[in-house]
Parts: sequence; structure tokens; C-alpha cells
Amino acid sequence: MKIACLALQGDFAEHEAVFRALGQETLQLRQKSDLQKKFDALVLPGGESTVQGKLLRELDMFDTVRQMILDGMPVMATCAGVILLAEQLLDDPVRHLATLKASVRRNAYGRQLGSFFTRSNFAGMSDVPMSFIRAPQIEFCSPGIEVLAEHEGRITAVRQGNQLAMTFHPELFTDYRVAEYFLEQVAGR
Ligand code: GLN
Repeated sequence: MKIACLALQGDFAEHEAVFRALGQETLQLRQKSDLQKKFDALVLPGGESTVQGKLLRELDMFDTVRQMILDGMPVMATCAGVILLAEQLLDDPVRHLATLKASVRRNAYGRQLGSFFTRSNFAGMSDVPMSFIRAPQIEFCSPGIEVLAEHEGRITAVRQGNQLAMTFHPELFTDYRVAEYFLEQVAGR
């Protein structure tokens, strides 16, 4: 399969490395014309959502990416990517793609000290390594959304149809089970 990573800012290279290690082709979405290429799934990496949202608009990629997701393109979002997808940001008046029926709080664990590592359950798998880096929190999500992971009472991963969103970074580890889970979803569509 061909996995496209939004490559405007953030840790897209780490995501690419994971999917390549799993035998997939990857491509980078850097400008509007890249969106014309053929691909099977989209990755929204971690990084800085304000910068990514601004670049998506400035490069005139915003509407196409949003429509693609609404049309069913499988998307995997980590951290800043979740902020891009959220329908509502609780501590920020802006919203970006707003395709995920969830309310998200940015920097929910504190700005500087809020980075930590844990191993936790994800979609029925145990001991999955997760790195939280100035992570957001999914505070509310609509009833139709499946919660895939929680950490100390906070929702850390959800799935709404074609949209898989997690507030942590699974792509920093050689345990590839989260990416494999996503690939299964892509293959099943
Ligand atoms: N705190 C960042 C933001 O608000 C997200 C951090 C991350 O992607 N690791 O965009």
C-alpha cells in the first residue's frame, strides 16, 4: 500500500520509517500538487498544530485534505494531528479540519513537564509503548466513537470510522503494532 504523510512540519520522517519497515511505500505531501498523487492512506504527524494548520491553509491544501477525509480516506493522526482533526479545541478559539467529533485540550499535561513514556493497552493489545510529548487530551467524544486507549482516566486513542487518532506517539518505537493495526483498517476498506 501507499501511505502518504503530511510533511509540512513535525515527525513525518519517523512515521515513514515505520511504514517502510512494514514493507509499505510512502510519499510526502508537501504541496498542493502532491495531493493529486495516488495513495491509500494519510498520516497526520505530531509536531506543532498551529504551524501545520497555518501551512495547510497557506499552501492551499486545507480544503482538499479535509474533503479527502470526509470522503473516507483512512487517516492516522498522532498528537498535533489529533488537534488538526478535532471538531473543537477547548482552550483555543481556532479549529482546523474539524472532521473528528471530539473535543480536545492542547498541552493537557502541562507545557514543559508534560512529556512522559508509558506502556499501556491499545485496541485490545497490551504493553504498547507510548510517548506523550506536550500531548493533548481528548476530553469528550461523540457516542459513535470507539475509545481504543486510555491512560489514567484520560482518553488517548479513538477511532471514528476512517479516522484513527491518538494523543501519543507510537512511531518512535520499533514496536509497530499500532501501525499494523492501522494498515489492517486500511486493507479492510
Ligand atoms: N503541543 C503540540 C500542539 O499543540 C502537540 C505536540 C505533539 O505533537 N507532540 O500542537
